[in-house]
Amino acid sequence: MAMMRSALLWASRSQKLREALPRYTFVRKAVKRFMPGETVDEALDAAAALRGDGFPTILTFLGENISSEVEATSVVEQYLAALRKITERTIDCHLSVKLTQLGIDLSEELCVANLTTIVRSAEAVKNVVWIDMEATPYVDGTLNVFCRLRQHHANVGLCLQSYLYRTGKDLEGLVGLAPVIRLVKGAYSEPADLAFPDKRDVDKNYLTVARSILGIGTHNGVRQGIGTHDLLLMRDIQTYAAEKGIGKDTYEFQMLYGIRADEQKRLLREGFRVRVLISYGTFWFPWYMRRLAERPANVLFVLKSLFA
Ligand SMILES: Cc1cc2nc3c(=O)[nH]c(=O)nc-3n(C[C@H](O)[C@H](O)[C@H](O)COP(=O)(O)OP(=O)(O)OC[C@H]3O[C@@H](n4cnc5c(N)ncnc54)[C@H](O)[C@@H]3O)c2cc1C
Repeated sequence: MAMMRSALLWASRSQKLREALPRYTFVRKAVKRFMPGETVDEALDAAAALRGDGFPTILTFLGENISSEVEATSVVEQYLAALRKITERTIDCHLSVKLTQLGIDLSEELCVANLTTIVRSAEAVKNVVWIDMEATPYVDGTLNVFCRLRQHHANVGLCLQSYLYRTGKDLEGLVGLAPVIRLVKGAYSEPADLAFPDKRDVDKNYLTVARSILGIGTHNGVRQGIGTHDLLLMRDIQTYAAEKGIGKDTYEFQMLYGIRADEQKRLLREGFRVRVLISYGTFWFPWYMRRLAERPANVLFVLKSLFA
C-alpha cells in the first residue's frame, strides 16, 4: 500500500505522465467520478444541484506552480468570473485557491496582490476565500501570505495539515488573528523529518489540532472546517464538541466531491453542516493522482473503466 501511494505521488509530479495519460479516454472517464467537468459552468451546475440537496460548496480551479505573471493573472480572472457566476446564481459556494497558482514562486508580493484582488471581490459579495496548503517548501510562505491578508480581511480561511509535526505550533502562532482553519491530513509526499510517517500519529495529531480549532469558534459567520472523510475522526470530533458544549454551528465538515457521498448525506440528515469541494479545470492530472494515492483501491476503479 505504502509503495503504491509513493508511486502515485511520484506520478503526480511527472510531467511526461501529465502530458500522456489525460489523452486516454478511460482515464478521462475515471476522473469524472471526482469532478463534474472541466468548465466552471459544469462545476456550478453540480454546486446548484448539491445546494438543492442542502449542501453548500467550495469551488477550486485546478492548477499549480504557474511560471509567469500572465498565467497568474489569468488564474485571477478565472476566479473573478467564477465569483460573478456564483453571485448571479445565488449559490452558497466559497472559493479555494493555491498560492503556487497565484505566483508565489515568482514573488510573495505578486501573490499577495493577486490574492488580495480575489479576496476583495469576494468580500464585496460576502463570500469567502480559502487558501489551500501545498507541499512543505510552501508552508512558511503560505502562513505569511495568510497573516498579511487576514490582518485586513475577515473573509479568508487557511488550510493546515495534521501530518506535519509543526502544525500545532503554527496554529498557536495564528490564534491571535482569530483564524478560520480547514484542517486536513495532508496530500503530498513529505520526508519523515517533517511529517509523521505513521498514519496513526497523523490521526492523533488531527484530533489534537481539531480540538484547538473548535476552541477558536466561528469568525464573521465562517465556521471552522473539518476536512476529512475519516468517519472515526469525525465521530471523535462530534463527541468532543458535544461534551464541551460546542454547537454544530461552530464547525462544518468539508469533503471532496464524489467521495463518500452516502456519508455526506447521512451527516446532513444528522444535522451537521457538510460543505463539498468541487474542482474544475483542465489541469487535473497531479490532483487526480493525489486522490488515487489517498485510496489506492481507487486504481481498481480506473482499471475497471479501462475494460468497461
Ligand atoms: C475539503 C478538502 C480540502 C482539502 N485541501 C487540502 C489542501 O489544501 N492541502 C492538502 O495537502 N490536502 C488537502 N486535502 C486532502 C487531504 O489532505 C487528504 O489527502 C484527503 O482528505 C484524504 O484524507 P482523509 O482525511 O479523508 O483520511 P484518510 O484516512 O485518507 O481516508 C479516510 C477514508 O476516507 C475514504 N477516502 C479518503 N480519500 C479518498 C479518495 N480519494 N477516494 C475514495 N475514498 C477516499 C476512504 O474510505 C478512507 O478509508 C483536502 C481534503 C478535503 C476533504
